Amino acid sequence: MKILLAASEVAPIIKIGGLGDVVGSLPLALEKIGVDVDVIVPFYPIAKTEGLKIYKGIDLEIPFGGKTEVVTVYKTKLTDSDVDVILLQNANYFRLGGKSAFADDISETEMFVFFDRAVVEFIKSKYNTYDLIHCNDWHTGLITHLLTDEIGKTRPATLLTVHNLSYQGVGDEDLLQDVGIVPGAHRLIDWDIQDSDVNLMLHGVTSTDFVSTVSPTYAKEILFKDIGGTLAEVMQSRVGRIEGILNGINYQQFPRSYDLENWKEAKAEMKSKIADEFALDPNKPIFGFISRLDPNQKGLDVLYESIEHIVESDAQLLLLGTGAKDWESKLEKLAQDPKYKENVSINIKFDVKMAERIYQGSDYLLVPSRFEPCGLIQMISMHYGTPPVVHATGGLKDTVIDGQNGFTYKLHSSKDLNDAITRSLEIFGTKEYDKIVQNAMLADFSWDESAKKYKELYEKVIDIRKRDMNFVNARGEEENG
Ligand code: ADP
Repeated sequence: MKILLAASEVAPIIKIGGLGDVVGSLPLALEKIGVDVDVIVPFYPIAKTEGLKIYKGIDLEIPFGGKTEVVTVYKTKLTDSDVDVILLQNANYFRLGGKSAFADDISETEMFVFFDRAVVEFIKSKYNTYDLIHCNDWHTGLITHLLTDEIGKTRPATLLTVHNLSYQGVGDEDLLQDVGIVPGAHRLIDWDIQDSDVNLMLHGVTSTDFVSTVSPTYAKEILFKDIGGTLAEVMQSRVGRIEGILNGINYQQFPRSYDLENWKEAKAEMKSKIADEFALDPNKPIFGFISRLDPNQKGLDVLYESIEHIVESDAQLLLLGTGAKDWESKLEKLAQDPKYKENVSINIKFDVKMAERIYQGSDYLLVPSRFEPCGLIQMISMHYGTPPVVHATGGLKDTVIDGQNGFTYKLHSSKDLNDAITRSLEIFGTKEYDKIVQNAMLADFSWDESAKKYKELYEKVIDIRKRDMNFVNARGEEENG
């Protein structure tokens, strides 16, 4: 079984968001259990290549927008592994990269439609090498259709992993012509472009042989409007072919200087350091909050309403985040209010070291997200022995067990969050709290378990593809998704 994992980023070579971490870690865990995976990504100028051996391979000719673009194929390996990383270079399309490559504006959709075509040309050049193409998010949304158009029935199987359904990659309908998808070739595309734009996530999800999401609960939640939004019905049409596999975390990235024997003293020391650093009281409980300030996803409204309850409960809030400008100033303003000044510390920045100190020194970590496809933050905080208080949604629901390794609440409301905060404070400083800390530290979210599940899923999808192909052959029909 040989797999090609196609994505917009792969850490540590190209890291823009959490997707890069997944794409950089999963193949290493798969390699350990004997799965042969190559990774393919755009070769942005921001790629960190120091210390890597990079080999220049063939030039591919990519027909795009009525002209021919040359893409040069480079190859390197993920550190300390035999995993090949294929880097596709083209000065006209893969010049963007960097901070905004996660957003879905028009220029990025153009870049990734071109990427999809280049990936397919690469696969063609390696005829019959890959059994399955593992696509990731909207960036790879047209790969299945292009494979069908270019290779036909004998194309490799495809799996598309949805990391976050709220980013869909909506682009100009002309991109389809550019990439060589003609009217009449795919019914759903013809229907979609009646409004003059094309939704790349929609076509990825509907054309792929199988869909996966990054947690089992999120796989169920996206079937409903509340979280699946305008694609909920589309996701429902794929029931039976959707499965969730929890992301793992790479524990090497989160060194911890204490263990089950000495966590109490070590964390007390860390707490007193952060209390100093952020002008808080080391004798009162500290709730940490570390997040992108994204009001759609991260539950900022619920958190904001709960700050009064935290302070009135004689506890404190320590927030680290950046994002929506209006929320940044709203939070900073609140921290100036004499009512909150002493007990609330708002830090508007992106600072990985500061995050590490907050994870280690806080008594609890708040994760009030409205939805959370998987979430790393609760896993990191458990590893550091800081029980998370989370809204039971998506990956938060799948990892945090109420009263065992953290605290959960069901409804996305500040009333429910307040109740959970109260419950968590009731046992502060007791043996019950200590037990929760220890259970949290013992939880294992390493990639090994998830890699086994991906291996099984790859095998299943390859079988499904064979079955579908036989079915199509028997009916003598061409595919027309
Ligand atoms: P998402 O991918 O939706 O942002 P996750 O919980 O999956 O949420 O991952 C967030 C990651 O980003 C965590 O590693 C967290 O520590 C880190 N992070 C978020 N905001 C900040 C910040 N302001 N400074 C440092 N690290 C941050």
